[in-house]
Amino acid sequence: MAVAELYEYDMTPFVSWQDLAECKGRTKLFFPPKAERPQARARREAKANKLCANCPVHEECRSFARSHREYGYWGGESEEDRHLAGFTVSAPIGVRARLQHEAS
Ligand code: SF4
Repeated sequence: MAVAELYEYDMTPFVSWQDLAECKGRTKLFFPPKAERPQARARREAKANKLCANCPVHEECRSFARSHREYGYWGGESEEDRHLAGFTVSAPIGVRARLQHEAS
């Protein structure tokens, strides 16, 4: 028996959920530019949300972002959305950071 026959290799290339992302190549839509105004953020996130709504890996993406405390727009959620769901980033920026700074 040849060595190759001792092993059954799965020759299917590994595909991660990121490989199936609807947003591939659209990074700018999911992360804010420096000093982005609230109205511009709302428009950008609305466009991102349209992509997320039709994405086949929506659930995997949202779960990843929550568990890794990611910044940006992931799985149909902004940082604010994740914060409200109990998944706060370690160093908040934007409105929440300003509110925390003012309260201290
Ligand atoms: S759910 Fe949205 S952010 Fe996540 S991979 Fe899909 S398109 Fe990208």
